[in-house]
Amino acid sequence: MSLVEVKEVKKVFGDFIALNGLSLSLEEGEQYAILGASGSGKSTLLYLIGGLDKSDGGSLTVDGNHLNKLSDEKLARYRNEYVGFVFQFHFLLPSMNCLKNILLPAEIGGHKIKAVKKRALEIASHLGVTHCLNKYPFQLSGGEQQRINIIRALSLKPKLLLCDEPTGNLDSVNSNKVTDLLKDLAKEFKSTLAVVTHDSLVADAFENQFVIRDGELASARTGFGATPPLPPHT
Ligand code: ADP
Ligand code: MG
Repeated sequence: MSLVEVKEVKKVFGDFIALNGLSLSLEEGEQYAILGASGSGKSTLLYLIGGLDKSDGGSLTVDGNHLNKLSDEKLARYRNEYVGFVFQFHFLLPSMNCLKNILLPAEIGGHKIKAVKKRALEIASHLGVTHCLNKYPFQLSGGEQQRINIIRALSLKPKLLLCDEPTGNLDSVNSNKVTDLLKDLAKEFKSTLAVVTHDSLVADAFENQFVIRDGELASARTGFGATPPLPPHT
């Protein structure tokens, strides 16, 4: 069984159909790019997989959990136990220093802070942002804030690392660096990685690619041959 199974998922906003019966699956430990133009439904899909929103039809299971059927409390626990999210915009709390921001999910989830802090310090050193940990988010550049975001997403060794345009504001050199880093860290932590992007150069760094167009799966290329050939888009 795949770790993530998205089956004919629908999501509507008013009378606008953002996801129109989309199906795909993510295998445990694998790495995926989800490519699509702006407005194609990429973030919407990632939020559903991450348990930040609920679909309006179809089914979405992660490790056998039907996300749409979970209570808000159980969904919060799912997010805490399974998901590391790197958002397109950096949601760091302005009133806390960066280390506190990083440790917040661990505190909320009742994890052992000492071990999480040790891991966070290691990743920070690897990313060259140790000097940022005692600073407040507003004192950091965009690139530094993004690295803090990545540390926070990884600090609980998530089974599922979901990244929404993580290289969106970077030049191509730094974009490659961040993509490589996410892939390396996901491998080290045995996390399943999904990176959403509108940039085909970023997507090309991944063997497994899904292309989304107008809320539908336009094509899929995976290394497992599990996805049947798709009909041409009309
Ligand atoms: P992408 O991430 O691929 O750029 P999104 O998933 O953010 O696209 O959005 C897909 C479509 O759904 C867009 O047309 C967007 O305007 C619309 N949409 C997304 N979120 C909302 C919302 N909360 N309310 C209304 N429309 C939304
Ligand atoms: Mg988006």
